[in-house]
Amino acid sequence: MHRVVCPGSFDPVTNGHLDIIRRAARLHDEVIVVVGANLVKHGMFSLEERLTMLAEVTRDLPNVRVDKFTGLLVEFCRGQGVSAIVKGLRAVSDFEYEMEMAQMNYRLAEVETLFMSANPLYSFLRSSLVKEIARYGGDVTSLVPAVVHERLRGKLTAS
Ligand code: ADP
Repeated sequence: MHRVVCPGSFDPVTNGHLDIIRRAARLHDEVIVVVGANLVKHGMFSLEERLTMLAEVTRDLPNVRVDKFTGLLVEFCRGQGVSAIVKGLRAVSDFEYEMEMAQMNYRLAEVETLFMSANPLYSFLRSSLVKEIARYGGDVTSLVPAVVHERLRGKLTAS
Protein backbone atom coordinates (compact mmCIF):
# COMPACT_ATOMS: atom_id res chain seq x y z
CA MET A 1 0.00 0.00 0.00
CA HIS A 2 1.55 3.26 -1.14
CA ARG A 3 0.06 6.01 1.03
CA VAL A 4 0.76 9.73 0.65
CA VAL A 5 -0.39 12.94 2.36
CA CYS A 6 -1.49 16.26 0.86
CA PRO A 7 -0.96 18.72 3.71
CA GLY A 8 -2.16 22.29 3.98
CA SER A 9 -4.18 24.81 5.89
CA PHE A 10 -7.13 24.64 3.45
CA ASP A 11 -8.75 27.84 4.74
CA PRO A 12 -10.77 27.11 2.63
CA VAL A 13 -10.04 24.37 0.06
CA THR A 14 -9.83 25.83 -3.48
CA ASN A 15 -10.06 24.33 -6.96
CA GLY A 16 -6.26 24.49 -7.05
CA HIS A 17 -5.97 22.22 -4.00
CA LEU A 18 -8.62 19.91 -5.38
CA ASP A 19 -6.79 19.61 -8.69
CA ILE A 20 -3.64 18.41 -6.87
CA ILE A 21 -5.66 16.02 -4.65
CA ARG A 22 -7.44 14.47 -7.66
CA ARG A 23 -4.24 14.04 -9.62
CA ALA A 24 -2.49 12.55 -6.57
CA ALA A 25 -5.39 10.10 -6.09
CA ARG A 26 -4.82 8.78 -9.62
CA LEU A 27 -1.14 8.12 -8.93
CA HIS A 28 -1.14 6.68 -5.41
CA ASP A 29 -3.05 3.91 -3.58
CA GLU A 30 -4.27 6.17 -0.82
CA VAL A 31 -4.20 9.94 -0.26
CA ILE A 32 -4.75 11.46 3.17
CA VAL A 33 -5.57 15.16 2.97
CA VAL A 34 -4.35 16.59 6.25
CA VAL A 35 -5.14 19.92 7.81
CA GLY A 36 -2.38 21.33 10.01
CA ALA A 37 -4.13 22.24 13.24
CA ASN A 38 -1.23 24.29 14.66
CA LEU A 39 -2.15 27.61 13.06
CA VAL A 40 -5.91 27.18 12.60
CA LYS A 41 -6.77 29.83 15.19
CA HIS A 42 -5.74 32.63 12.82
CA GLY A 43 -7.92 31.60 9.90
CA MET A 44 -11.46 32.28 8.71
CA PHE A 45 -12.79 28.71 9.07
CA SER A 46 -12.53 26.48 12.13
CA LEU A 47 -10.69 23.17 11.93
CA GLU A 48 -14.01 21.29 11.87
CA GLU A 49 -15.35 23.46 9.03
CA ARG A 50 -12.21 22.89 6.97
CA LEU A 51 -12.39 19.13 7.53
CA THR A 52 -16.09 19.04 6.63
CA MET A 53 -15.57 21.00 3.41
CA LEU A 54 -12.65 18.78 2.42
CA ALA A 55 -14.71 15.65 3.10
CA GLU A 56 -17.57 17.01 0.99
CA VAL A 57 -15.43 17.93 -2.01
CA THR A 58 -13.50 14.64 -2.02
CA ARG A 59 -16.54 12.42 -1.44
CA ASP A 60 -16.37 11.00 -4.97
CA LEU A 61 -12.75 9.89 -4.54
CA PRO A 62 -12.77 6.47 -2.82
CA ASN A 63 -9.03 6.39 -2.04
CA VAL A 64 -8.96 9.83 -0.42
CA ARG A 65 -9.59 10.50 3.26
CA VAL A 66 -9.36 13.59 5.39
CA ASP A 67 -7.59 14.00 8.72
CA LYS A 68 -5.81 16.58 10.85
CA PHE A 69 -2.40 16.73 12.46
CA THR A 70 -0.82 18.67 15.28
CA GLY A 71 2.89 19.09 15.81
CA LEU A 72 5.22 17.75 13.16
CA LEU A 73 3.84 16.43 9.89
CA VAL A 74 6.58 13.81 9.75
CA GLU A 75 5.34 12.35 13.06
CA PHE A 76 1.87 11.99 11.53
CA CYS A 77 3.48 10.32 8.50
CA ARG A 78 5.41 7.90 10.69
CA GLY A 79 2.29 6.97 12.67
CA GLN A 80 0.15 6.40 9.57
CA GLY A 81 2.70 4.56 7.44
CA VAL A 82 2.88 7.41 4.92
CA SER A 83 5.80 7.23 2.52
CA ALA A 84 5.60 10.62 0.83
CA ILE A 85 4.27 14.15 1.10
CA VAL A 86 2.68 15.54 -2.09
CA LYS A 87 2.89 19.30 -2.61
CA GLY A 88 1.70 21.51 -5.42
CA LEU A 89 4.15 24.06 -6.81
CA ARG A 90 2.55 27.15 -8.27
CA ALA A 91 5.50 29.34 -9.12
CA VAL A 92 9.19 29.86 -8.45
CA SER A 93 8.14 31.83 -5.36
CA ASP A 94 6.87 28.58 -3.78
CA PHE A 95 10.10 26.77 -4.53
CA GLU A 96 12.53 28.04 -1.93
CA TYR A 97 10.26 27.42 1.06
CA GLU A 98 9.03 24.06 -0.23
CA MET A 99 12.56 22.87 -0.97
CA GLU A 100 13.66 23.76 2.55
CA MET A 101 10.68 21.94 4.08
CA ALA A 102 11.27 18.89 1.87
CA GLN A 103 14.91 18.66 2.85
CA MET A 104 14.10 19.14 6.54
CA ASN A 105 11.38 16.48 6.47
CA TYR A 106 13.73 14.03 4.83
CA ARG A 107 16.40 14.84 7.37
CA LEU A 108 13.97 14.41 10.29
CA ALA A 109 12.30 11.17 9.26
CA GLU A 110 13.37 10.16 5.74
CA VAL A 111 9.91 11.09 4.44
CA GLU A 112 10.11 11.97 0.73
CA THR A 113 8.36 14.99 -0.82
CA LEU A 114 6.89 14.75 -4.33
CA PHE A 115 6.20 18.00 -6.16
CA MET A 116 3.41 18.34 -8.71
CA SER A 117 3.29 21.34 -10.99
CA ALA A 118 0.15 23.40 -10.55
CA ASN A 119 -2.45 23.28 -13.25
CA PRO A 120 -1.93 26.59 -15.13
CA LEU A 121 -5.67 27.22 -14.74
CA TYR A 122 -5.12 27.55 -11.00
CA SER A 123 -1.50 28.59 -10.59
CA PHE A 124 -2.53 32.08 -9.41
CA LEU A 125 -4.88 30.67 -6.80
CA ARG A 126 -4.38 30.69 -3.05
CA SER A 127 -6.90 30.62 -0.22
CA SER A 128 -5.96 34.03 1.16
CA LEU A 129 -6.56 35.70 -2.22
CA VAL A 130 -9.94 33.97 -2.59
CA LYS A 131 -11.01 35.29 0.84
CA GLU A 132 -9.83 38.79 0.00
CA ILE A 133 -11.72 38.88 -3.31
CA ALA A 134 -14.87 37.45 -1.72
CA ARG A 135 -14.66 39.94 1.15
CA TYR A 136 -14.79 42.83 -1.33
CA GLY A 137 -17.71 41.35 -3.25
CA GLY A 138 -15.74 39.77 -6.12
CA ASP A 139 -16.95 36.67 -7.90
CA VAL A 140 -15.10 33.54 -6.75
CA THR A 141 -17.49 30.93 -8.18
CA SER A 142 -14.90 29.56 -10.60
CA LEU A 143 -12.16 29.43 -7.95
CA VAL A 144 -13.70 27.22 -5.25
CA PRO A 145 -16.09 24.24 -5.20
CA ALA A 146 -19.80 25.15 -4.87
CA VAL A 147 -20.07 23.99 -1.24
CA VAL A 148 -17.13 26.18 -0.29
CA HIS A 149 -18.65 29.13 -2.11
CA GLU A 150 -21.85 28.70 -0.10
CA ARG A 151 -19.99 28.62 3.20
CA LEU A 152 -17.86 31.59 2.23
CA ARG A 153 -20.98 33.60 1.48
CA GLY A 154 -22.46 32.50 4.81
CA LYS A 155 -19.36 33.65 6.71
CA LEU A 156 -19.21 37.00 4.98
CA THR A 157 -22.88 37.84 5.34
CA ALA A 158 -22.77 36.86 9.03
CA SER A 159 -19.79 39.15 9.74
P1 ADP B 1 -2.72 28.31 0.34
O1 ADP B 1 -3.25 29.08 1.51
O2 ADP B 1 -1.53 28.97 -0.29
O3 ADP B 1 -3.77 27.94 -0.65
P2 ADP B 1 -2.20 25.77 1.74
O4 ADP B 1 -1.27 25.74 2.89
O5 ADP B 1 -3.62 25.46 2.07
O6 ADP B 1 -2.04 27.07 0.95
O7 ADP B 1 -1.68 24.83 0.58
C1 ADP B 1 -1.42 23.49 0.76
C2 ADP B 1 -0.70 22.90 -0.42
O8 ADP B 1 -1.48 23.08 -1.60
C3 ADP B 1 0.65 23.54 -0.74
O9 ADP B 1 1.52 22.50 -1.16
C4 ADP B 1 0.40 24.43 -1.89
O10 ADP B 1 1.52 24.59 -2.72
C5 ADP B 1 -0.69 23.68 -2.61
N1 ADP B 1 -1.51 24.57 -3.36
C6 ADP B 1 -2.22 25.60 -2.88
N2 ADP B 1 -2.86 26.23 -3.87
C7 ADP B 1 -2.53 25.57 -5.01
C8 ADP B 1 -2.86 25.75 -6.39
N3 ADP B 1 -3.63 26.75 -6.78
N4 ADP B 1 -2.35 24.87 -7.28
C9 ADP B 1 -1.54 23.88 -6.87
N5 ADP B 1 -1.18 23.67 -5.60
C10 ADP B 1 -1.67 24.50 -4.68
